[in-house]
Amino acid sequence: MDFLPIFADVKNRLCLVVGGGEVAKRKAGVLLEAGAKVRVVAPDIAAELRNDVRVMPILARFEAVHLDDVMLVIAATNDRQVNQQVSELARARHILVNVVDDPELCSFIMPAILDRSPLMVAFSSGGASPVLTRMMRGKLETVIPQNYSRLAAFAERFREAVKIKVTNPAKRRIFWENALEGVVAEKVLTGDEPSAEAMLQKMLENEDNIQRGEVYLVGAGPGDPDLLTFRALRLMQKADVVVYDNLVAKAIVDMTRRDAERIFVGKKRADHTLRQEEINELLVRLAKEGKRVLRLKGGDPFIFGRGGEEIETLAAENIPFQVVPGITAASGVASYAGIPLTHRDYAQSCLFVTGHLKDGTMNLDWDALARPKQTVVVYMGLHGLETLCVELVKHGMPDSTPIAIVQQGTTQNQRVITGTLATLPAIAEREQPQAPTLIIVGGVVELREKLAWFHPQNT
Ligand code: SAH
Repeated sequence: MDFLPIFADVKNRLCLVVGGGEVAKRKAGVLLEAGAKVRVVAPDIAAELRNDVRVMPILARFEAVHLDDVMLVIAATNDRQVNQQVSELARARHILVNVVDDPELCSFIMPAILDRSPLMVAFSSGGASPVLTRMMRGKLETVIPQNYSRLAAFAERFREAVKIKVTNPAKRRIFWENALEGVVAEKVLTGDEPSAEAMLQKMLENEDNIQRGEVYLVGAGPGDPDLLTFRALRLMQKADVVVYDNLVAKAIVDMTRRDAERIFVGKKRADHTLRQEEINELLVRLAKEGKRVLRLKGGDPFIFGRGGEEIETLAAENIPFQVVPGITAASGVASYAGIPLTHRDYAQSCLFVTGHLKDGTMNLDWDALARPKQTVVVYMGLHGLETLCVELVKHGMPDSTPIAIVQQGTTQNQRVITGTLATLPAIAEREQPQAPTLIIVGGVVELREKLAWFHPQNT
């Protein structure tokens, strides 16, 4: 270890920043955020800094006297000689000194920080590679969500009460692990502190209370793992068991916790590995065993995903759950295909419909679908493509209306097949697109010629 990592209390302590430019402003900002009194010395000081009431500006060249009563100093001038002088004088007086971007002149270095106050993560490579440090920070940024601040503050609020009630330190640690990893934490993170508090109180009344199971119904988006939400990723890392089906890309399933149990519940057309009722029951059973269950679904769970049915059963059984939205196929696939779903010249509205109905027919409100100046997106529609085109024309849409089939959108296997209502069925017959496919009907499809930007490797 080349440096001692510490968090210094600078509240109401005098700190000096030498320099008046952008870098000085940033450094003074961090000091102010930590509650320090900040003296800034430079012949020229940026107005924003000079006018900040919390700052004591001294418009002059740096002199030894400016170090009087100072706890630490940061030199941020672009004059190495001045920086060196600050460093030498400060060291002689045992004042901590940092010179920006000049490790040799420093007695302390500033880490990159991830601020989730009161939770604070500091990173440093000891000056070896600031870029690497920042990259690490960026990675953690995604797994430690913003609202961990709230979680840390919540834990702080109950720290004493728990200490009094759970006196054995080992037991206390387990208590906190259960609280901060389980349902209580999830309640805090979704903003429901009253419920979190009630649960924590209950746990306190019965210390041996085992962790209760819960279910995360998570939308995994249309395929590209980059389209996952931060929350999806965090819950994927947390769950003990993952229940997933066909539509979830393998690359995404692979991103779940390594040691999590994985249960495939299928669902290719007509070849249902588990019936929906069985899936609902499975979720209940796993949660009742005390597990954190990740129900991973393609796209958005509440758009043609039967997510509602799955959580209805959970709600009836009083099992805690949360729903994480995902990018639905229409949105993800249209973006990657270069087809804006609305456009002032082509479509003022957009309909999402399913081409697959319970009894196998395509019993849609054709008059509504055939209206001008709108985009129609059909999920699960490939098998009914011919009917779709025929009915739309029958109900008044010109047979020259552009239409696209997008296969495996957002992935490296994405393929876009375009035509008109008159021509597409025959083209599709010839091209044989592979599931899953999404159909987009309307003038906006033409825009693809100008806007296509995503060029997958495999097609
Ligand atoms: N809940 C999902 C939809 C489930 S229904 C969502 O919000 O996206 C399954 C249908 O979604 C498929 O038949 C197909 O029409 C569409 N779909 C899902 N992912 C797709 C993708 N990557 N490319 C094209 N269509 C997709």
